[in-house]
Amino acid sequence: MDFAGRIGVVTGASRGIGKEIALQLARHGADVALTSRRQEGVDLAAAEIEALGVRARAYACDVSVREDVDALAAGVVEDLGMPDFLVNNAGIVIDKLLLRMKPEDWESVIATNLTGVYNTTKAFAPHFLRKREGRIVNISSVIGITGNAGQASYAASKAGVVGFTKSLAQEFATRGITVNAVAPGYVATVMTDGLDAETKAKLLSMIPMGRFGKVEDVANVVIFLLSNMADYVTGQVINCDGGMVMR
Ligand code: NDP
Repeated sequence: MDFAGRIGVVTGASRGIGKEIALQLARHGADVALTSRRQEGVDLAAAEIEALGVRARAYACDVSVREDVDALAAGVVEDLGMPDFLVNNAGIVIDKLLLRMKPEDWESVIATNLTGVYNTTKAFAPHFLRKREGRIVNISSVIGITGNAGQASYAASKAGVVGFTKSLAQEFATRGITVNAVAPGYVATVMTDGLDAETKAKLLSMIPMGRFGKVEDVANVVIFLLSNMADYVTGQVINCDGGMVMR
C-alpha cells in the first residue's frame, strides 16, 4: 500500500483507535490531519506522526459543533490540500440504564457519535465530489448491531452510523467515493479502561478468539478500506471483533 501524496483526516485522533489509524496512514506515506476537542492531545499525536517524515496537522475541533467542523474543513484544505480520506472515529460513551439517562446524556452521545459524523461528512464531501474520488470510513460498533443494556444511546448512535453509511454509499456510488463502516468489538483503550474485572471476564467469555481487540486490529481494517485493494467495496460494515458477532 502506498499512500504517498494522499491526505487523510482522522477525527478523535489524539489517542486510542484514531491515533493508531493516523499513525498507520503516515507509515504508508499519507499526510494526516488529526482532530480532537483538546488541542494539546492532537498536538502530541501530530508531533509523533511528523517524526515519521510526513506532514501532520493538529486541529482542535468538536465534531458535534458545525462551526468547528466547517473551520476544520477550510483549515485542512488550506494547510494540506484537498483530502482523499475521511475517517469518522471520534466517539464517546455515557452508559446508563434508560431510567437514569438524562436528556443531556442522550443528546451528548447522539451529537458526537451520529451528528458528528453527519457534520464532518457534509463538510468534506464537496471536496471528494469535486475530485470525483474519496474514501469515507465510519467507526461504528458491535453494540450498534446487537444493542446492550445500559448503552441505549451509544447503540442508537452507532446503529445510526450504519444507516448513514449505507445511504451515503448509495448516493456516492457513481462518483468515485466509497463509504464503509468498521464495527469494532471490545478494544483496549481509554474508553474501555474503566470496566471492572468482572465485566471484563464476562466480555472475554463472549469473544470466540478469547482476547480483547488491539487498536492495530481496527486500524488494519480501516487502512484496507482506504486502499485501492478495496476499490469495489462500498456500503459495507466490517466487523472487527474476534468473532463476537457472526452474520
Ligand atoms: P477513546 O476514548 O480512546 O478516544 C476517543 C477520541 O475521540 C479521543 O481522541 C477524543 O479526544 C475524541 N473525541 C471525543 N469526543 C469528541 C468530539 N466531540 N469531537 C472531536 N473529538 C472527540 O476511544 P476509542 O479509541 O476507544 O474509540 C474510538 C472510536 O471507536 C469511537 O467512535 C468508539 O465509539 C469506537 N469503538 C470503540 C470500541 C472500544 O472498545 N474501545 C469498540 C467499538 C467502537 P478529546 O477527548 O480530546 O476530544
